Amino acid sequence: MKTGLETKCIQEGWKPKQGEPRQLPVYQSTTFQYDSSDAMGRLFDLEDTGYFYTRLQNPTNDAVAAKICALEGGTAAMLTSSGQAANFFAVFNICEAGDHLIASSAIYGGTYNLFGVTMKKMGIACTFVDQDITKEELDTYFRPNTKAVFGETITNPTVSVLDIEKFAAAAHKHGVPLIVDNTFATPINCRPFEWGADIVTHSTTKYMDGHAVGVGGCIVDSGKFDWMAHAEKYPGLTTPDESYHGITYAEKFGNELAFIEKATAQLMRDLGSIQSPQNAFYLNLGLETLPLRMRQHCASALAVAKFLEADERVAWVHYADLEKDAYHSLAEKYLPCGTCGVLSFGIKGGREQSIRFMDSLQLISIVTHVADSKSCILHPASHTHRQMTDEQLREAGVAPDLIRLSIGLENTEDIIADLRQALERIV
Ligand SMILES: *Cc1c(COP(=O)(O)O)cnc(C)c1O
Repeated sequence: MKTGLETKCIQEGWKPKQGEPRQLPVYQSTTFQYDSSDAMGRLFDLEDTGYFYTRLQNPTNDAVAAKICALEGGTAAMLTSSGQAANFFAVFNICEAGDHLIASSAIYGGTYNLFGVTMKKMGIACTFVDQDITKEELDTYFRPNTKAVFGETITNPTVSVLDIEKFAAAAHKHGVPLIVDNTFATPINCRPFEWGADIVTHSTTKYMDGHAVGVGGCIVDSGKFDWMAHAEKYPGLTTPDESYHGITYAEKFGNELAFIEKATAQLMRDLGSIQSPQNAFYLNLGLETLPLRMRQHCASALAVAKFLEADERVAWVHYADLEKDAYHSLAEKYLPCGTCGVLSFGIKGGREQSIRFMDSLQLISIVTHVADSKSCILHPASHTHRQMTDEQLREAGVAPDLIRLSIGLENTEDIIADLRQALERIV
């Protein structure tokens, strides 16, 4: 049966049989029992599917991953302990020492560090590109050892919209997959596979959880990338894995399942970054109301963006649902139902006025988080990026006066009233 996203959020994933719990149970168990040595042996050989140890897989997690997979329109998915782990696994599953990837320079700071510093130490090089460059220019950054292209549907914190089709076309021309971090949009507002992305990642910590209770991540495979057609580039998927009795993932599992099977059997086994089943349970509760919440986050954020845009004390506002925004036409194409509840803006007068404004807020709190039910605010120049000079901030693409505002689910007029009274304190 073809179903809408609201139905998928409720019905996909856990499918109880007669007499089983209606709500997804938390399988709070490290281990699973078998009747014979042979039955367990077959699991270790990947001959049978089943659970044996929660470092690799757990039924609660798999039910939640299946729900996210259905929402994105993928063929296989896995949960990870964090969004950082999801992005690391997604790239490390197909890149090894000596390889290269291309990433948008506007991505989340944590991912920028992961690719630019930590993975560099592992021998994997990353070229960061301005995501607004032409496709001809993008073409010039590919090397023979390029194995993946990476971007975010809506960037954190600059809320720029990625031209997914442009990036997918460039990646496919060079025989490599496009990985898209779809955290801010969620599959409710954008499904990158419909525009050519091959792998999608999430920090489920944000809107999917939605209540700021559990850190988590997810990787979803579209099943569309043909690994065998580019066998020489991806030996990890297309040649025998000696640590698994010589199975070849792409042959044994096909394009639909190979990527997630390998990430589970090798990376989860060796690096063990699984989400706890309890957190997966919370995530599932969040997913049930995701469409309702995204609608409200977007409606309130647009009202706030319009309010800020009209205030003379505000220097600029970035929110792609605003008609004047530089990313408005990309948002109309890729995110026709709205972008997300996060926007960024600057106050006239720079750092000092920004700090006075933020300290005057009463309802909106200062926290290092975004995308949950409580409105919150952060000034990167004073908080996450405070060691940097104004010059260094500009190089990182973060204006010294940039304030990131995440609109929660409080009454819209109350949020605006709080912003108004704080703006009045700065003059
Ligand atoms: C927060 C975030 C991450 C990192 O996720 P964690 O769950 O905090 O590890 C990655 N990408 C984006 C776009 C994010 O907003």
